[in-house]
Amino acid sequence: MNSKQQMDITELQKLDSQHHLHPFTDAKELNEQGTRIIVKADGVYIWDAQDNKLLDGMAGLWCVNAGYGRKDIAEAAYEQLQRLPYYNSFFQCTTPPAIELATLLAELAPAHINHVFFTGSGSESNDTVVRMVRRFWDLKGEPQKSVIISRKNAYHGSTMAGASLGGMRFMHEQGGLPLPGIVHIDQPYWFGEGGELDKQEFGLNVARQLEEKILQLGLDRVAAFIAEPIQGAGGVIIPPESYWPEIQRICDKYGILLIVDEVICGFGRTGKWFGSHYYNITPDFMSVAKGLTSGYLPMGGVMVSDRVADELISKGGELAHGYTYSGHPVAAAAALANVKILRDEGIVETVDTDTGPYLQQRWQELGEHSLVGESRGVGFLGALELVSDKLARARYPNSGKVGGLCRDISIKNGLVMRAVGDTMIISPPLVANREHIDELVDKAKLTLDQTLEHIPSIKFDE
Ligand SMILES: *Cc1c(COP(=O)(O)O)cnc(C)c1O
Repeated sequence: MNSKQQMDITELQKLDSQHHLHPFTDAKELNEQGTRIIVKADGVYIWDAQDNKLLDGMAGLWCVNAGYGRKDIAEAAYEQLQRLPYYNSFFQCTTPPAIELATLLAELAPAHINHVFFTGSGSESNDTVVRMVRRFWDLKGEPQKSVIISRKNAYHGSTMAGASLGGMRFMHEQGGLPLPGIVHIDQPYWFGEGGELDKQEFGLNVARQLEEKILQLGLDRVAAFIAEPIQGAGGVIIPPESYWPEIQRICDKYGILLIVDEVICGFGRTGKWFGSHYYNITPDFMSVAKGLTSGYLPMGGVMVSDRVADELISKGGELAHGYTYSGHPVAAAAALANVKILRDEGIVETVDTDTGPYLQQRWQELGEHSLVGESRGVGFLGALELVSDKLARARYPNSGKVGGLCRDISIKNGLVMRAVGDTMIISPPLVANREHIDELVDKAKLTLDQTLEHIPSIKFDE
């Protein structure tokens, strides 16, 4: 790097701090540290402005499933931009890419799901779900059924409804959330909250909180339950096998709608097309985004079961809801190209049968490390619980300090991992091959060693 390039970077960082407010960021702290400017990417790697090459263990923000630098996605978008850059799907109109994408999604989704409502993001998808759930029960003649049950530490987006459905306390504290009619039960987080209970027993217990909550609120008031198949932003929390069958049983028994937030698990992350396939769930709604376009353009959607679609369609009347960019033709063209890549190149299948099991086998090795209390994963998702005492599952004080240190060291070692408190998480591009996986795990191992060495220099405030 020459001094001119360094000056450009410093100038860009200065402008960023003067004009750009970042999501989920302490702006004061960021301005003191300066931003990392990412300038290009290819395959599973990203490069920053200082020309550091990083293996992107997070696929951007859980979204670049097809990997970076796919010219076919760029060309599909460019071609559509020239032909028809925009038209809406209001007023009896639509566009060919939106139709073709809706058809392809219906093919890939579980058999009883055949309709999609397009949005611009995962948050918008979950806002849309709230509207549709309430519309469904209105049409059924039971408008008092409006309460949606969610889970603590869930993530369902950042809009008012998304953040309300989510169970992140620090988000609720800003803005007087959750909105009325949204309540939360415990999460199936055995490592953090299972205590001495057997994993499967714990899974059943937390699932049964749903039944208790329904009975406590009164079935006449409960509309739906929402959950991620595997919690992502909460820390890659993988429920015990006993959890989902019990949730499904309870939803079926009481006839409440089951919303599965597939924003992370969708499009191959678990090795199946959807988390609902992986756990054999029968949802009434699936929220999608992220991997739908591999992040190349913003787009989301709500996939709707026949039970719900029949009700919404057959009774007639307008759903008073929609976005300017619902079904955006360029985003839809990019999504189509992306989903076809995932399908036609066998990428989802490879994660299921080859690279996913290989990643899990190698990730499991990290569980032997003395800093790691548990290593867990499914498909191309993984988590490491950093602990001060392995057997006692004891945490370090000041959750996030050790995790933050580990993340910073990881980036210095050329690997993007994310820290959620003291849980390290990964969600790599689905195109990572065995060599990339070896590089990822080796760098993570080195990072754990170096983190352990540095921990004595951390100042914990007790
Ligand atoms: C990221 C995410 C969302 C929100 O998606 P945005 O596109 O950021 O609005 C919703 N649900 C889950 C499970 C997510 O991971």
